[in-house]
Amino acid sequence: MPHVKNPNAPRILRARNLARLGWLEHGFSTREGGISRLDGHAGILNLAAAAGDRPERVRENQRRFLQALSGKKILKSAPDPQLWPRELRQIHSALVWRDPRPRQAGDGLMTNRSGLRLAIRTADCLPILLADQRLRVVAAVHAGWRGTLARIAERTVGEMRAAYGCRPEDMLAAIGPGIGGCCYEVGPEIVQAFLAQFPQADAFLAAPDPDAMRMRFPNLFLTGTPPGHDYDARWNAESFARLDLKQANFQQLRAAGLGESAIEILPYCTACQPDLFFSYRREGEYAGRHWAVIGVVPDLPEQQLNSNASIHHSLKIASPPRKGGEPKDKSNVFNQKNLKKISKMGCIEQKFPLH
Ligand SMILES: [Zn+2]
Repeated sequence: MPHVKNPNAPRILRARNLARLGWLEHGFSTREGGISRLDGHAGILNLAAAAGDRPERVRENQRRFLQALSGKKILKSAPDPQLWPRELRQIHSALVWRDPRPRQAGDGLMTNRSGLRLAIRTADCLPILLADQRLRVVAAVHAGWRGTLARIAERTVGEMRAAYGCRPEDMLAAIGPGIGGCCYEVGPEIVQAFLAQFPQADAFLAAPDPDAMRMRFPNLFLTGTPPGHDYDARWNAESFARLDLKQANFQQLRAAGLGESAIEILPYCTACQPDLFFSYRREGEYAGRHWAVIGVVPDLPEQQLNSNASIHHSLKIASPPRKGGEPKDKSNVFNQKNLKKISKMGCIEQKFPLH
């Protein structure tokens, strides 16, 4: 177990770029600091209905998370319903709403109303948070493979432009913890759909771990590899590939006009960091759910924002991770002495700093 000052406080991850904005509150939850018991573990911070958990525990976990996020006491007896974030009924779509009704169907939500928090629930899918620094507009996006394919990140930027007059050059984005390209193997239909939809799909599709038998005897497996070419899993109609959703969404945000340095990718993989995250792929229907929350919080003294939660800054990955090596630009690696290993796809295993 990681060592933290208060083991009962939820551990919250924040993006470095958004954390600089004093008027904005945001955070990505981890498993730590709740009262649920899931999969034989106690003290779990599950933030949405999940098989094997109780609604009253989920509610208490939410209260603790919001308290840690805001640094303000939230009473157990009479919690102010206004403090709870607005959530959607997520349907893996490209639907984006301005100030949506509670539980409205969709996967992107945005607001410029101070005090209104927005939340996305995930367990492997990517949460993406956006902020317009000039107009103080915020948005939260749920992007799994379907939403990514439907270009929900790009769509949300477009909706922010249309609804509020936002300019992409004023926007910042944080791509939160989700399943990484290291772990997310997808089937041929998804591979083909991404290749058809995105001309730059090469940047976020990689062959699965090599299979020695297939590479040695390709004809046995009808690989579909054209004569004279090396084996490439993507030519095979039956082939699988690893999909890097973070890179796919990074590319979408770039295409929508955001600057490269305005987009931060948090270097966590939900599938290969079981101590910190839930993973639907790993745990199935018993997986808990994370929250990614963002809101405009006026008149909140900045020192209060960080008072009750440990902050993790993230590794900025400005260019697609290189195969077999560390990300090129290491100047932004925070707390480098605590990084144990950077895997092929830029995923970090981290030894936790003391707080
Ligand atoms: Zn991984």
